[in-house]
Amino acid sequence: MPSSKGYAALNAQSPLAPFSFDRREPGASEITVEILYCGVCHSDLHQVRNEWNGSRYPIVPGHEIVGRVTAAGNSVTKFKVGGIAAIGVIVDSCRHCAPCNNGEEHFCVEGMTETYNSIDRVDGSVTKGGYSNNYVVDERFAHHVPENLDLAAVAPLLCAGITTYSPIRHWKVGPGKKVGIIGLGGLGHMGLKFAHSFGAHVVQFTTSLKKREDALRLGADEVVLSTDADAMKAHFKSFDFILDTASAPHSLDPYTDLLKQDATMTLVGLPEKAPVLNVGNLISRRASLAGSMIGGMTETQQMLEYCGLHNIVSDVEVIPIQQVNEAFERLLKQDVKYRFVIDMSSLK
Ligand code: NAP
Ligand code: ZN
Ligand code: ZN
Repeated sequence: MPSSKGYAALNAQSPLAPFSFDRREPGASEITVEILYCGVCHSDLHQVRNEWNGSRYPIVPGHEIVGRVTAAGNSVTKFKVGGIAAIGVIVDSCRHCAPCNNGEEHFCVEGMTETYNSIDRVDGSVTKGGYSNNYVVDERFAHHVPENLDLAAVAPLLCAGITTYSPIRHWKVGPGKKVGIIGLGGLGHMGLKFAHSFGAHVVQFTTSLKKREDALRLGADEVVLSTDADAMKAHFKSFDFILDTASAPHSLDPYTDLLKQDATMTLVGLPEKAPVLNVGNLISRRASLAGSMIGGMTETQQMLEYCGLHNIVSDVEVIPIQQVNEAFERLLKQDVKYRFVIDMSSLK
């Protein structure tokens, strides 16, 4: 059995600390990946602190993984030992329901298996994520990475990237559309890059006006301080689409008020507390409030190819794993530019 080491939290109050565990040998269709980089997603923080309930301890977070294949089962065809593989939020699913057959495994009727904090469909253990030195996964749930992209900056594409790319594609963001992105963090900065790349007029909403210059550099046409009522009012009933990536509880009403007739606001941020909603804002413009979750295997690979073609990666601050607790605290202070990525060579 390959022995693994990583960082785990033992309960909702404890910091992440060094932790050893075992992973199974790869089965016939599985690969073992030596992890090079793993992104730090706000979902890791929510789950380490049990903010969504249902966390299983010890919890080893991490679902933005890029690494090198060190072993492959007999029937593996997609990867070769020595090649690069990437793993996101989904590591297994029923593989036979309609969504699974459509490559939309995140909507698996029987429930997807997540990279950590899920029950492994093969051995019944609790899955342990990418804040560790290796991962064992079926080749169906691993992705190829375009060769021209920096691997540390690719890691966040596996969650922050696909979670914003998917709704931006689904709601047909493009030329002639006015699009808002709420929150300039890990997801937000990728949403901004994609919406800009697809040719929309993009307005970045932020609570941290010190991020203004960065937002413009990352592709925003306009930047609005969301706590400035007058600045918000100037955009009344003007948006075709708004993507909400905010990680902390907030009112949706100041934003739904900015939607045009028949427009959509899609939530991807999942704060620990549900929002109170002014339904009148939706009724008065036949607006839709929607949600979206990551993306399936097919679209994730498409997103990676798109990023390869257009040279899109995440803006990252690479950290040693010993600084991960500090990175969590900085996420809570909205002090992230714009994704922390752990260099796993720091894990001794
Ligand atoms: P992050 O890097 O910490 O960024 C979150 C950003 O939200 C902050 O930088 C801040 O941007 C903004 N924000 C924070 N509090 C706010 C408030 N009260 N009002 C308005 N904006 C606020 O987090 P992330 O990794 O991007 O994750 C964001 C959320 O998406 C988390 O809840 C995460 O769990 C969720 N998520 C969902 C999916 C999915 O599949 N749906 C996938 C991944 C993550 P400014 O400083 O610019 O205001
Ligand atoms: Zn994530
Ligand atoms: Zn399924």
